[in-house]
Order: sequence, then structure tokens, then C-alpha cells
Amino acid sequence: MVSVNKSNDLFIRANGIIPGAVNSPVRAWKAVGGSPLFVERAQGARLYDADGNSFIDYVGSYGPAILGHAHPRVAAAVARRAEQGFSYGAPTRLEVELAERINGAIPAAEKVRLVNSGTEAAMTALRIARAATGRPGIVKFDGCYHGHTDSLLVRAGSGAMTFGVPDSAGIPEAVAAQTRIAQYCSLEAVARHFCAEPAGIAAVIVEPIAANMGVVRPPPGFLQSLYDLTRHYHALLICDEVISGFRLRYGTVSESLGVSPDLVILGKIIGGGMPIGAVAGRTELMDLLAPEGPVYQAGTLSGNPLSVIAGIETLCALEGAGTYEQLEASGARLETGLRNALARSARQGCVNRAGSLLTLFFGVDRVRNAEEARTADTAVFAKFFRAMLERGIYLPPSQFEAMFVSLAHTEADIDATIAAANESLDAIGAP
Ligand code: PMP
Repeated sequence: MVSVNKSNDLFIRANGIIPGAVNSPVRAWKAVGGSPLFVERAQGARLYDADGNSFIDYVGSYGPAILGHAHPRVAAAVARRAEQGFSYGAPTRLEVELAERINGAIPAAEKVRLVNSGTEAAMTALRIARAATGRPGIVKFDGCYHGHTDSLLVRAGSGAMTFGVPDSAGIPEAVAAQTRIAQYCSLEAVARHFCAEPAGIAAVIVEPIAANMGVVRPPPGFLQSLYDLTRHYHALLICDEVISGFRLRYGTVSESLGVSPDLVILGKIIGGGMPIGAVAGRTELMDLLAPEGPVYQAGTLSGNPLSVIAGIETLCALEGAGTYEQLEASGARLETGLRNALARSARQGCVNRAGSLLTLFFGVDRVRNAEEARTADTAVFAKFFRAMLERGIYLPPSQFEAMFVSLAHTEADIDATIAAANESLDAIGAP
């Protein structure tokens, strides 16, 4: 057993002062049991905890750390910039540069507004869509996550396929009821919502590759057909690329599929690990935002120079030759190794992957939507998680969070992870 005394002490202290001991729920490890490791520092693909243990990290801050942690280029730029002040409440050249860079990579991003998180970006996108169309309704897909704004913290439960039920206490039914739920990739379900109220739905919001029910790739043609459906009903298509943006290519997944969404939301990688989000899209929609237009949106720290410089440097590094080829190769190597480990162990399961995003599902042969994801064996996942941790591998502490591979993960890291997976599957015993 690795010693985690200091983490345990910190957890007890944190529990006394921070609700649930954490500042974001998944960090509490409720889905896998035990108390979380408190992180001291991270470098490259490695995470070091308060007790001095080191782990190969597949959380990667849930997406931003695509270059690896504390990349020298990004860290140096942030340190230099910090000497010039942290935020001014006034515009800077850097914000213009980041917006231009995003526009250069994503043609649909004709104009860009920087915010502080993916949640804020999604919230603002909905407000723009509702203002532009004069309609209240939103269609979202079961199992897609778009942050914790009231309207989007809704998914279908059984018997609630037509009108949303809130996923959290404190969300008025009247707000949740404006959110219609469709099964991921079911065009029929979306069409049914549009048929029921052809002039009531402002927008459909989608993760073009889902990464919050585990990784799920849509079937070919899905996004294009969804786009066509929104054209037919004069509604907007909002692509949530908070995870997928700059993760699978230099730009967005939607663009590579030939779809130009009305609005795109971004976050994570474009801030290089510092707080950021962005809503971007067609000029006439984006110009609805204050002070140009009537849709109010603001932020004391929006576009702050530290987040923006970290984002610019991260994007510059990603633009270099061979980065996405390396991420694909590392993801593929890990996928093959995990598949072989599963087969060797004779455990039921499957691996879903998109580039450097990956999920090993236990107890299911395939996962194409949230309904299938919910049938995964979370108890086995929890055992696997703990066995991997004992072997120095830090996985996301939930069956439904993607593993993130970075440019800092070497072939040796991946091979060590595969070896640990084989040992862990042995250690958790026969099915
Ligand atoms: N959209 C997606 C697809 C996400 O994965 C997340 C967060 N993981 C968000 C939006 C919300 O971003 P944030 O946590 O920065 O508010």
C-alpha cells in the first residue's frame, strides 16, 4: 500500500471547512471509494501527491494539460507575464491575439468572447440563442455535460424523455422544463421535439464527440444530419467543444466534419490549465452581446492576461509539427494494450477512443449512448481504479470520465500503464 497519511489528514481538515472536502464533486472520489489524494505538484505526465508518491496521470486536469503539466514554455510565459500584473479590468493585446488565433483555427468562430469557464460559455451561448430566435426551448442529449448552468443540468431519467427533470436540487422545474432531452445520436428523438413545437426550440446543444458519459463517438453523418435538422426548423446548432476543441486536431471536431455550427463553446486547452472559456460564432449572433447588442454578459477576470498567455503558448506548441499524430499514436497504443489486457483477463468490457481521449468500460460490450453507459459495471471500475493507483497510475475517479493522454506521455509511460492494467485485472480476480 502506498502511504497516504498526509492526504488523509488534509482530507479530514478539508471536510471541516470545504463542503465534501473538495471544490468540484468528482474530486471527492465518491464513485470509487476511499479519500482522494491531495496533489502537491505535477510535471509532464506525472502527478506528485502530498506524501511524495508519484503517478502517471491520465486526468490531465480533465483536459487542459494536453502538453503535459507545467510545460516549460507555458510556465515561463505565465511567470514572465505575472510580473506585469494579473488583471486590469481593461482590454489587452493578448486577448486580441488569442481571439485571432481561435478564429484562424475555427472558421465558424467569426467573433470570440472570452469568459472564465466552460459553464459560463455554455450559459452565454444559450442566452444568445434564445435572444436570436425569441424561443425558450433547448434540446440537449442525455449524458452530454455542458457545465452546471440551470438549464443544462438536466438529463433524461426514465419516464422523463419529453420534459427535463433537474439533475440538481435548487433548479426550478420551470427552468428545467425548457430543456428537452434526446438520446445521444438519436436524430428521431430530436426530430420529435422539433415536430412537437416547431417554433419553440432555440437551439440544439451537442458534444460532437461525447466525453462525459465516457468517450462516445457518434456514427458517421450524425452531426451533419443534426445540422440539417436545425436548418429546417430555423434553430441554432451549438457545438460544445470544451473538451474536443484542439484535443483531436488544431481546431474543432465539427469543422473537420464539415459542419459550421452557429455557436461553438470552448474552454480547457485554450487556457492551458488556467481558468478560461469562450463562446464564438457567426458575427451577427456574437454582436448580440453587450455592449454591441442587448444580450448581457460580463466578467471581472474575463480575458485575464495569465489565462490568455497560457492559452496562446499552449496553442502555439500544439501548432507544431506532429503533435496530433503523436497524440493519436499514444492513444492507439493505450487502446490496443487495454483491449488486449481485457481479452487476456476474460472480463467483459470495451474500450472507446477518440484520439487521445479514452474510456475502458467494464461489463458492457459496446457503449453508444448514456443508456448503454449506465449499464457499465461501476463496482468493477472502482476496484480497477484502486488497483491501478496502487501501481502508480492515476485514472479519472469515475467510470464516466474520459482518460486524457498528453504529449508528455512517452511510449514507456503507456507501456507501464498497460503492464499495470494487466496486473490490476489479475489482482481484482476472476469475473
Ligand atoms: N462542456 C464540456 C463538454 C465539459 O466537459 C465541461 C467540463 N468538463 C464543461 C462544458 C464545463 O466546463 P467548466 O468545468 O470549465 O465550467
